Amino acid sequence: MRYLTNRNFALLSVAFATAITVACAEAGATDPASTEAADSASASPAIDRSNTADFQPETTHTPSPRPTSAATPPPPPDRPRDVFADVWKKRIERAMGDESCTESPHQLNPNFYTGPLIDTHYHVPHLPDSQPLQGELSSPYLDVANLERFNHEFPLLGVNMSAAEIACSLRNEGTDGAFAFFPVFPQIADQSIEVVRLSMNQYGDIFFPFINAGGAGTPTVENEELKVRLDFYPGLFEGYGEIPLYSAGGPDDEALPPDSAVFDGIFDTASSEGLAVYFHPGVDQIDSFSQVLSAYPDVSFIVHGEQIENEITQLMALHDNIYFTVDTLYGDQYLLHQGENAESFVEKVSDYGPLLEKDLGTWKEAIETYPDQFFWGTDRGGIAVWTFDIDVGRAISDYARAFIAELDPAVQDRFAYENALRAMNRDVDEWLAAR
Ligand SMILES: [Zn+2]
Repeated sequence: MRYLTNRNFALLSVAFATAITVACAEAGATDPASTEAADSASASPAIDRSNTADFQPETTHTPSPRPTSAATPPPPPDRPRDVFADVWKKRIERAMGDESCTESPHQLNPNFYTGPLIDTHYHVPHLPDSQPLQGELSSPYLDVANLERFNHEFPLLGVNMSAAEIACSLRNEGTDGAFAFFPVFPQIADQSIEVVRLSMNQYGDIFFPFINAGGAGTPTVENEELKVRLDFYPGLFEGYGEIPLYSAGGPDDEALPPDSAVFDGIFDTASSEGLAVYFHPGVDQIDSFSQVLSAYPDVSFIVHGEQIENEITQLMALHDNIYFTVDTLYGDQYLLHQGENAESFVEKVSDYGPLLEKDLGTWKEAIETYPDQFFWGTDRGGIAVWTFDIDVGRAISDYARAFIAELDPAVQDRFAYENALRAMNRDVDEWLAAR
């Protein structure tokens, strides 16, 4: 179910985003400062992540001046303000949301794991991508037909969810960090990246930002376009993905093993920019993975999903730069979809005994055999607003803490956060000190 649901989401995201032509500001970082910074970043792969609060002030993308001549008529005197810029400014403000967060301490069960915890699979919703003059709620996601299809619960940043609410929810559940997949659609790349920049200024202590850069009809943009987006604010992103590599079964919907041509140059970029790569593999791709893992030993490749879970330890035996997110907990079920709601989810995970027995049977041996390559995640946020609910977050993280407590004590910290930090090239002591 998750496979279909996730895939449907990815396809719809790309389809809707690409169906709409938004005449937005140029998506290229053309100022010399950006280019210079990008050059120095590629010369020195070690990017300083310690000062996330210091990205540059908002860049104004000024349109090129029109050529003037005597034949050019002057603009009408009562020309309205720049509607486009005004609308996007408001959308971005709403996407950030109200910073105030009432934190009520979440009492961790002392019988469970009580240390630091990082969620390594978190989907941040995207901005509404309708053209400003179509009106604020004209996004295809909000059409009546789609509202019914998505059960009125499809998350949109600035409409029914905000960066502030996400950060507040994580703080209230006691989760210390999240690998956050920020969607950056082609037509609204600069606006989407602005949301990431502001999110990192405000919540840089909690988000590990990944660029989720889809293209027209493919799950990724090509390397040259990826580099343009990364050059907006060099050093802003820490990862690339999640990118689906599986086929949804349609006639034109090919699976893309990691050595496919569409990724040409992308792993070199990941290497030079210090980015982790997050893939959702398809079936029978481990040979392709093995080649890529050998060719890029300095890049962390992170995967999840049932297509590879039975084979992942074969890759781990050969490569120490492959990591796996364990997220199908709660009795090996994926419950974070629109068929559930906050109440039904909390109810379904409330009886830990049989669920833990099943999950430990599935994962404990593999995690303890490869204690440096597994970590925890949730795969929440993509398709249902209720998955951001604070009570849901507490139920999710409490269950994870109960699961971790059953692992070998020597492995618990590694699974809960240390492996995640290593995959992101972060220093454990520095991160702990900054919490
Ligand atoms: Zn996935």
